[in-house]
Amino acid sequence: MSMHIPFDNTYAALPPVFFSSQKPTPVRAPQLLAYNEGLAELLGLPDAGQDELAQVFSGNHLPDGSAPIAQLYSGHQFGHYNPQLGDGRAVLLGEVVGTDGQRRDIQLKGSGPTPYSRSGDGRAWLGPVLREYVVSEAMHALGIPTTRALAAVATGEPVYREGALPGAVLTRVAASHLRVGTFQVFAARSDTRSLQQLTDYAIARHYPAADGPMGLLTAVRDAQAALVAKWMSVGFIHGVMNTDNCAISGETIDYGPCAFLDTYHPDTVFSSIDRQGRYAYANQPDIIVWNLAQLATALIQIMPDRDAAVEEATAIIHATPTLIRGHWLRLFGRKIGLAQAQEDDMALISDLLTRMAQEQADFTNTFRALADGTARAQFTDPTSYDAWHSDWQARLASEPDAPALMRATNPALIPRNHRIEQMIEAAVAGDMAPFHRLLSALATPYDDNPAVADLARPPLETEIVPATFCGT
Ligand code: AMP
Ligand code: MG
Repeated sequence: MSMHIPFDNTYAALPPVFFSSQKPTPVRAPQLLAYNEGLAELLGLPDAGQDELAQVFSGNHLPDGSAPIAQLYSGHQFGHYNPQLGDGRAVLLGEVVGTDGQRRDIQLKGSGPTPYSRSGDGRAWLGPVLREYVVSEAMHALGIPTTRALAAVATGEPVYREGALPGAVLTRVAASHLRVGTFQVFAARSDTRSLQQLTDYAIARHYPAADGPMGLLTAVRDAQAALVAKWMSVGFIHGVMNTDNCAISGETIDYGPCAFLDTYHPDTVFSSIDRQGRYAYANQPDIIVWNLAQLATALIQIMPDRDAAVEEATAIIHATPTLIRGHWLRLFGRKIGLAQAQEDDMALISDLLTRMAQEQADFTNTFRALADGTARAQFTDPTSYDAWHSDWQARLASEPDAPALMRATNPALIPRNHRIEQMIEAAVAGDMAPFHRLLSALATPYDDNPAVADLARPPLETEIVPATFCGT
């Protein structure tokens, strides 16, 4: 008897051009490494034993009602259009409507080859699976829209990358897996019928109030503008903002080479394949605009009057930088204790960031320390902080709730890259304790928790992780 999941599938009911039916490839010896009980409850999943969970979330047991598919999409990767991507190592088991009334996808990642795999093996190794598990759950706890992690299962099989590594499957939960690239693939084929169906589907699923393709574009723009500002506010670098990794729902998706800033510098890049710094920390707002322009280009195809649509879409896209700037100002204002930052506060915030970059201040710890008056110790030359401090104090005079606001806005804990790498190293050696400790600490990132002070510490010289890698 397989676990009963109350599936309610809508994507698999679309015409076959949208996907390929694809069962997960069974694995040898599935072993449950992590299971997100809270999320399972939200999804309305029944209780099940460890073995059954391992069988289901490795893809060995297909639950009744699942309609496993690999979704088709395309996308721009580092600015170059790739006409066919699609789930090359993922299978959508189906959708469920949670106890909160929200519809979500349940997808296995690392579940074997699909027609879209091209030369890949369709598998994932333990490292990226645990990285995504921890970072996506940390993002959720930070209050940032994101896909979630439901389960991680070791497959008992090796995958071959640089050498043999332990294989694993991640179960990802998302508002949907519709991407900018899902629209691009049909636009590139001039398949306007499918593009229209997809647009109707996306509106019904995510933005029921949106009016037509331009309404959808506006809604996605608003969601993505808010998202990127939130990334900036916690020092998150996505690392691979290709249009296939840009979700229509406005959730953060694809935790391949992502990383959080330790020392603040706007040009920071971690991804080993991002040689030009296209997806550097400070470039992220511009890249969102670029990605939205690709969505606009696709959607224009199904507008009755193309010239008028180009004009309308251009106006929608051109408004994005102002929207992002507004979110940024509000969030960074709160980070320095201002309940309602005003336009002239931009200079005060920027001045702090400039000094932080010059004096190699830790992004997370500097902002956190503002509330308790110890920020100056974060600067190589503390007098650089002092010069800013007096201007800040003058502005704070009219902000009685500043310390509480700052503590609620500036996390004490983020998933630091070196801790993730150490956790992965331990897991590969069979020790899952650091994974569970990291995960549980990151569930309450705004609390002061002396028991995990080590996780708040920036990396020592010897611990710095200079580069991150895609999950492939
Ligand atoms: P990702 O970095 O997972 O977003 O991958 C980008 C594209 O490469 C998608 O089409 C993936 O499905 C595909 N891909 C990445 N890794 C693999 C793999 N190991 N096997 C098959 N396809 C892969
Ligand atoms: Mg991707």
